[in-house]
Amino acid sequence: METNLENKRVLITGAAGFLGSHLCDKFIEQGCEVIGMDNLITGELKNIEHLFGLEKFTFYHHDVTKFVHVPGRVDYILHFASPASPIDYLKIPIQTLKVGSLGTHNLLGLAKEKKARILIASTSEVYGDPLVHPQNESYYGNVNTIGPRGVYDEAKRFQESITMAYHRFHGLETRIVRIFNTYGPRMRLNDGRVIPAFMGQALRGEDLTVFGDGLQTRSFCYVDDQIDGIFRLLLSDYSLPVNIGNPDEISILDFAEEIIKLTGTEQKIVFKPLPKDDPLQRQPDITKAKEILGWDVKTQRVEGMRKTFEYFKGLTEEELFKKEHKDFSKHNKR
Ligand code: UDP
Repeated sequence: METNLENKRVLITGAAGFLGSHLCDKFIEQGCEVIGMDNLITGELKNIEHLFGLEKFTFYHHDVTKFVHVPGRVDYILHFASPASPIDYLKIPIQTLKVGSLGTHNLLGLAKEKKARILIASTSEVYGDPLVHPQNESYYGNVNTIGPRGVYDEAKRFQESITMAYHRFHGLETRIVRIFNTYGPRMRLNDGRVIPAFMGQALRGEDLTVFGDGLQTRSFCYVDDQIDGIFRLLLSDYSLPVNIGNPDEISILDFAEEIIKLTGTEQKIVFKPLPKDDPLQRQPDITKAKEILGWDVKTQRVEGMRKTFEYFKGLTEEELFKKEHKDFSKHNKR
C-alpha cells in the first residue's frame, strides 16, 4: 500500500457534506493538496470553513452534473456528492438521480483525462430491502426501481455499473465503497436520518419518533472508522465493491432506548408510520474489508454516540430549533 501522499492533489466532491468534509480533513492531514467541490444543496460550508485559510485547500462551488474542469494535475478523485438521506432524496429526486449518473460520468471522464484514480461512494442501498443477511458484496440486492427510494438506489447502482465499465473498457483505476449507515459529528441535524432526528428530539425536549414497530434493524458505523476504511480502499489495488460498516446490529426501538439513556431525556417514544420501502434489516458482512484492507471497526456504538451527542449539544439554539429543511425547490426544475 502506497502511504506517502505528501503533495498529491485530491479532488473531493460533496466536500461540504458529512463524509466529504471528514475526507477533506483526512487528506489535508496526509499532506495532500485538497480541492473540495460542492454545490451546497445539502452540504454546509460550516463543515469546512476551518480549512479555508489553508494554502493546501481550495473550494469550488460547482455542481458536478455540469462539466467538471480542474486545472492542473489530479492524482485522486473521491466522488461523495449526493443527497444521502431519505428525506433529502424525496425532496430532490431528480438531482439525486443526476448526481449519481451524470455527475459520476463527468468525474470518470475527468479521471480518465487526468489519469487519476477514482473512488466512488456507493451504498448499502444497492442491496435494497435485502433478502440475504448479513449483506455481502456478491448479493445483487432487492430494489424497488420505482419506489421513493428508487431514485437513490438506482442512481447508485448505475454509478457502480458505469464505474466498472470505465475500469474495464478504459483501464481506469477505480474503487467502489459500499457505505453502510455512518454517523458522527457534522451530520445535518434536520436531514431526517435517525441519529440526528433522535438527538435533536432529545435536546429539544420532544418525544422520540420511532417509525413502524421499530423492529427494523440498522448497524451504525462511527465516522472515523468509515473514513479509515475509505482511505485504505483508495490506496489498495482492489477494484470491485467493498462494504464498509459496523456489523453491530440493533433494532430502531432498542436504539431509541439507548438514546434515551445516553441523553438523559425524560421524553418517551412515539410511533409513526413506516416510510415506504424502509429496509427491514441491514448488517454489513465486512469479511472482504478485513481481508483485503486489513480494516476493522475500532469505535463501538456507546463511545461513538457519546462523541456525536457532544457535537449536537454544541449546536446553537437557533440551529437546534430551525425546523425547516433547506429550500430545495429550485434545484428540481433542472
Ligand atoms: N427512523 C425512525 N425515526 C426517525 C427517523 C428514522 O424510526 O425519526 C428509522 C427509519 O424508518 C429507518 C431507520 O430509522 O428504519 C434508519 O433510518 P435512516 O433514515 O437513518 O437511514 P436508512 O438506513 O433508512 O437510509
